[in-house]
Order: sequence, then C-alpha cells, then structure tokens
Amino acid sequence: MKIPLQTFLYCFPACRPLKSWLAKRLYHISSSTMASCKHKNAKRIEGIDKNMWVQFTSVAADPSIVNLGQGFPDIPPPDYIKEALAKAASVDQLNQYTRSFGHPSLVKALAQLYGKVCNREIDPQKEILVSTGAYGCLFSTIQGLIEEGDEVIIIEPFYDCYIPMIKMAGAHPVLIPLTLKRTKGDSISSAHWVLDPEELASKFSPRTKAIIINNPNNPLGKIFTKEELQEIADLCIKHDTLCISDEVYEWLVYSGRKHTKIGMLSGMWDRTVTVGSAGKTFGVTGWKLGWAIGPEHLIKHLQTVHQNALYTCPTPLQEAVAQGIWRELCLLNQPECYFNCLVKLLEEKRDQMARFVHAAGMKPIIPEGGYFMVVDVSGLNQDLSHMQDDEPYDFKFVQWMTKEKKLAAIPVSAFTGEKSKKDFEKYIRFCFIKKDSTLQAAEEILKNWNKISH
Ligand code: PMP
Ligand code: GLN
Repeated sequence: MKIPLQTFLYCFPACRPLKSWLAKRLYHISSSTMASCKHKNAKRIEGIDKNMWVQFTSVAADPSIVNLGQGFPDIPPPDYIKEALAKAASVDQLNQYTRSFGHPSLVKALAQLYGKVCNREIDPQKEILVSTGAYGCLFSTIQGLIEEGDEVIIIEPFYDCYIPMIKMAGAHPVLIPLTLKRTKGDSISSAHWVLDPEELASKFSPRTKAIIINNPNNPLGKIFTKEELQEIADLCIKHDTLCISDEVYEWLVYSGRKHTKIGMLSGMWDRTVTVGSAGKTFGVTGWKLGWAIGPEHLIKHLQTVHQNALYTCPTPLQEAVAQGIWRELCLLNQPECYFNCLVKLLEEKRDQMARFVHAAGMKPIIPEGGYFMVVDVSGLNQDLSHMQDDEPYDFKFVQWMTKEKKLAAIPVSAFTGEKSKKDFEKYIRFCFIKKDSTLQAAEEILKNWNKISH
C-alpha cells in the first residue's frame, strides 16, 4: 500500500501540499491493514513514540559539546546525601524491598517536612506516595484518577510528559498558553507571562476532570502568584475539578518571590495532588525518587497504580533521601540549609547567564524560580533556510547550534501543543545549574559567535 502512494507523490510534485494529509491516510490504512497483526503497538501509545529527551540528550555523552540542554546539575550533590546513601547501602536490611508506597522513614520525614510547610498534619501512610521520580508520581496520578474521555487542562509551555500521560489514559489535553504581557522596560521576567482569566474560564467544561499546573514552571521559571493560583482554585471549585500541581522546583525561588502551594488555598486540599522530586530537591536527578502528597481519598488510587506497576522504589535511596530531609528540616530557613545555599548559588548563575546571553544579542526571560532560562534568539537572525523545513525554527536552531557551535540547549516549542509552536519557536531553553567552568565555556562560545559562524 505504501509504495504506490509514495510513487504517486513522487511523480506528481504538485500534489505535495497534500503530503501530510496523505501521510495520515496512509498511516491509517496501513494500521488498519495491520490490525490483525499481534505485533502491533497498543492503541494507547499511538502517536507518542517520539520523545525530545531521547532526541536531544545524546549530546551529554560528547565531551566537546557544552551541554546546557537537559536539566541536571554538573555541580556535585551535597556530601551528606552521598554519605547517607553509602551508609544506607552498608546496612544489610536496607538492601531489600521496603514498604510499597514509601519507605517508612522517608514518608515520615516527608510528612514532617510538608506538615511544617503546609501547616497541617499529613498522614505518612495514607497521604503520601513515593514513586520513581516525579514522572512515576505523575503517571500514577493520571492513571489512577483520569478516565477515558475526560479533559485535562494544561498551561503552555508545559513539562512535555503531561500530554503523552494523558493520552495513555485515553483522555484529552485542553491547552491554554501563557502569553507575554508587554512591558515598558527592556528586561523581561517570567512574571510577565500570564494567563488570560476569561480564556482560562472558557477551557473548563463538564468533561474537565483536572488541571495540571507546574509551579515554578519548566521551562519559563514562572512562579504563579497567590492571586493567579486563587483564580485557578476558584475555577476548580466551581467546576468540581481536580488539580495536579507539579512543584518539583518548589525550593528554587529567587529573591523577592514567594512560592505558594495551590493545595493550601481554601477548599483545595481535598482536590489537589502535589508532586515533588528528590532529584530536583537534592541535585541527584539520577536517583529518580519523587513523591505525591494529597488527601487519602485521592492518594489511595495512586497507590493502587503504583503497587501494581512498580510495587516499590529502591530502599537505600529512600533511606538516604529521608536522612537528607531530616537534616534540612532542622535547618529550614537557616543559612546552612542546603535549599537556601543552592538558591543563593543559582541566583548568581542566573544573573551571570542573563548578562552573557544578553551581550550575545539574545533576549533572556529572567526566571523567578527553577534552573532554566528561556531566551529569545530571533535577534540573531540566524538563517537556517538550508535546513529541512518541516520542523519549528527552535528545533533547527538547537540542532544547528549544537553541531556548529558545540553548545546544546532545548527548543521551547517542545513544551507546547501544535497550535502554539509558531508563538514559541523563537525561544530556546538553557539550564544554568552548572559549574563555573561550564558556564564560562558557554559564554566563550557566545562571545565568539560571529567569528566562527558558518
Ligand atoms: N516535572 C518537571 C516540571 C520536571 O522538570 C521534571 C524533570 N525533573 C519532572 C517533572 C520529572 O522529575 P523526576 O526526574 O523526579 O522524575
Ligand atoms: N526534567 C529535565 C528537564 O526538563 C529532563 C528530564 C528528562 O530528560 N526526561 O530538562
């Protein structure tokens, strides 16, 4: 079936505008012809096989490339957490399975920490799930709570895994973009990116099951104000919808900003699942441990998914994270607290990066939180017309920059739906939780941008 259609396209180039329509038909025809084939993929994973992390992270292995792409630190994690892991692994019993929904000492530590932050008692057994990173928690939340045919509202730009997870649950993502509110000054902050309250309200329907928010946002670094969160909360309450709040960067909040947990607003605890990550909290992304916190009547469904899909997470890692949390809990709000030290360090790196990207002719959006900076590269007028034309500009720009300039980033349109790609394709994302030498190497590349341009 494939060959005659492709030959037809080749022979009649005038029909090329029909190419994408035909490609879709072709796919449909070939998949229905294959319907009886037992080797065919399950329908729930149709169309989600492409993944930008798989595409863009291979550069990590090439030492000649300065990698400001995928979000992970190249600064070392705190010694105490590495020591806690070594110690945990030296205890025989801690090398065996532990409680399915979270190692007892970890859920206890999390209950204490979030009890203090949220100013409410949290039941370590019933109101917490520990899973394989924030990914595992998001997956359990969506599988456990979202029904086939449901709608889930997502704010663009969004962390990319939300859409495939929603699709795997048979539900439909409904997107609403943050848009840039024009400012008088030269400098743009992530706070200038806002939701239109009327547009947001229009996205809620009787089929809306949940809204996902990401606060601080990846990639923009926006921290939603209490007022913005209240607008979302009011709509959740009015339409009786759930809220999934991805707060993996909750501790990375820069001067003058405050992070509010939507689950703590009046009427929200009972309808909110809040997701956190040890990888982001302690700079150990390879540990892949995360947690979901919320009311028992929601968390029990996440626990059902987890117990049947993964059963439990590595015990020594959970024990080490528990030790790390106990330490931070004692130091919370003190200068020695790792969370505070990291914020101080990262704020300097953020400002340094803002200066050097600006000097190179890129326009930074100064993040209020997290460890990413989105920059507008349109001012460089880089001509990429020689590259394949079926990709957004930022995808081409990042591929070109990685190859020609040996500097890696992530295209921001990877964090949007199809319709918004045009509005975001002039932006790329840099990660700044990097050693001075890495940032200096990036700065050097940008300084020499025109000298070695092809
Ligand atoms: N949510 C957001 C917003 C992220 O940036 C990431 C990447 N760390 C995740 C979820 C997944 O986190 P984890 O590595 O803990 O699975
Ligand atoms: N969360 C990381 C980022 O935003 C990447 C995680 C991944 O590679 N899937 O860069």
